[in-house]
Amino acid sequence: MAMDNRRNLFKKISARPLMRKNDLLVIGGVFVLSFALSFLIPQHQTASIVIVEVDGREAYRFSIQKDSEYPIRGCHPVGGTNPVSHTLHIRDGQVYVEDAQCRDKLCEKMGKIDHPGQIIVCVPYKVLIRIEGYQVNENGASPDAVTR
Ligand SMILES: [Zn+2]
Repeated sequence: MAMDNRRNLFKKISARPLMRKNDLLVIGGVFVLSFALSFLIPQHQTASIVIVEVDGREAYRFSIQKDSEYPIRGCHPVGGTNPVSHTLHIRDGQVYVEDAQCRDKLCEKMGKIDHPGQIIVCVPYKVLIRIEGYQVNENGASPDAVTR
């Protein structure tokens, strides 16, 4: 039944003597639209996320798109409960720390990072901040990490 319908439809279309102006406009419109969409929605868009590891374990995960400040609880250098050791700043896609409790403040001096693969490390508090890039598929999910 379905095949017959399709055949009839094909006959109807091919039976037309000439393409009308409107048909060309529709076809042209669809072509232009699909062309534009292929640019608007790339197949594999990359995005980034900020991951904070404390003592080698992932402790926080932040969006790099959202400007904010987050208190980070690093490992206490001499034991005890983990104190708030850093303030993580995310601003305009750049990530940096302030209010570091460590003596050398090397982590603050590392400055701003904004690319996947870049890291900020605080050795005394065992804090590692890194930007991870991943691919976004059409569903918006992020299954495959690109950079580790
Ligand atoms: Zn530090």
